[in-house]
Amino acid sequence: DSREYAANCVAALDAARDCLHTAESRLGDMDAIAGDGDHGRGMVRGIDAATSAAAAAAGQGAGAGSVLIAAGDAWADKAGGTSGVLWGAGLRAFGESLGDQGSPDAEELAAGVRAFSDRIAGLGKAEPGDKTMVDALVPFTETFTRLAVEGAEPRQAWEASALQATSAAEATASLRPLKGRARPLAEKSVGTPDPGATSLAMLFTVMGPFLAG
Ligand code: ADP
Ligand code: MG
Ligand code: MG
Repeated sequence: DSREYAANCVAALDAARDCLHTAESRLGDMDAIAGDGDHGRGMVRGIDAATSAAAAAAGQGAGAGSVLIAAGDAWADKAGGTSGVLWGAGLRAFGESLGDQGSPDAEELAAGVRAFSDRIAGLGKAEPGDKTMVDALVPFTETFTRLAVEGAEPRQAWEASALQATSAAEATASLRPLKGRARPLAEKSVGTPDPGATSLAMLFTVMGPFLAG
């Protein structure tokens, strides 16, 4: 039912928080190569605010969509930085798409993932190949949409899509950044994956069992 899926969303965000606390310094080091080194810190600030807001909303009986909207707004408000604005807005769009209903089926989840992706693309204007989080997000979204249309179970579709996102994030190592703060030092970034693509692939991987359970 609706309360149960809201609890799954809280659990997904809690898993993301644990993952980001573990990865904080590694993400910061990656961002320091051509950017300003704050990606780990910013993501931790964002997810800490998001998990608190999500738990508070769920505690007041909010449905899944409202929980995700509260989490996204808190993330955007507290994280700072480009990734914080984009993650916050993306989570809000995901929540708006899902609404306060029970567990989404694969097609409803696909619509949510597409809303997340479209909001980020619309705000950041990055395209695949620009060496941003979009390089991991687009393959995730395309794979998930295709598998959902083919009738796959949400869990299997999510796992397969997360694997695509992970290899796409790794493959950004060979690219030169065309957007964001890493652009002026683009050459230095070659050989290191994009930090935002890396964190996105990690988070989609760990949240999958809860969002697509
Ligand atoms: P900031 O660059 O403001 O310090 P972060 O370090 O937290 O913010 O995030 C950097 C990440 O944000 C990059 O690795 C990239 O993935 C992502 N990013 C930067 N600009 C854009 C954009 N225009 N669209 C999508 N993602 C972007
Ligand atoms: Mg940064
Ligand atoms: Mg910064």
